Amino acid sequence: MRIDIMTLFPEMCGRVLGESIIGRAQKSGKVEIVVTDIRDFAGNKHNKVDDMPYGGGMGMVMSASPVYDCYKSLYAKDEPKPHLIYMSPKGGTLNQSKVAELSKLDRFVILCGHYEGVDQRVIDEIVDEEISIGDYVLTGGELPALALTDAVCRMLPGVLSDDSCFQDESHFAGLLEYPQYTRPSEWHGKGVPEVLLSGNHAEIEKWRRKQSLIITRQRRKDMFERFELSKQDEKLLDDLEK
Ligand code: SAM
Repeated sequence: MRIDIMTLFPEMCGRVLGESIIGRAQKSGKVEIVVTDIRDFAGNKHNKVDDMPYGGGMGMVMSASPVYDCYKSLYAKDEPKPHLIYMSPKGGTLNQSKVAELSKLDRFVILCGHYEGVDQRVIDEIVDEEISIGDYVLTGGELPALALTDAVCRMLPGVLSDDSCFQDESHFAGLLEYPQYTRPSEWHGKGVPEVLLSGNHAEIEKWRRKQSLIITRQRRKDMFERFELSKQDEKLLDDLEK
């Protein structure tokens, strides 16, 4: 997969994406992440890429032409237009199923806004979808772009040691994950649930499933109501209520 990030602050992205699991995924060729500086397409001697909003008001707006020219530079005339996502608080909220959908593409491009955002005309002309990472406003689209890139990359084949690493995780199958413990078996006077030390894998699986159900029901009523309980899940919860 190839992911392009268009930004006015390329260094913010490069450093983060070079570390840890995503850094290794790039080195081993499982994903190619290309960060492009929109300012390189300013097209004027002062490298100006923003201007005052028409109609007045606070802040600056990113100009249409540098964004358009930057995007056009990322693919050849005879290539299909790569899917372009604008990170925006006005977009649909990112969730695991959107991440899974994007992880199936061969390529996509992310546009990071800054200041008051981007001239609406270029959004209308080239953007395919807008994605928000939550109902709050950040100073720029770089952190949202990094969150999206990280979430997609870890779902690509071979990026994590095993696909089951993310299949058990919160949100993948509509539940929150069970609690995790590691050594030592006693810490600050607190032990580890006995079953996890038993070596009985069937019982461990049952315990984990039950914890996932309980935690989801306690913390995320909305998710729990949407989740289709199997007969076995119902039995696990019934045992709890007895
Ligand atoms: N004036 C815009 C508004 O009220 O909708 C907010 C602009 S914000 C200060 C600057 C840029 O940060 C946006 O263009 C977008 O790229 C990014 N951004 C801010 N909050 C975001 C969020 N919750 N999700 C995704 N991107 C966000």
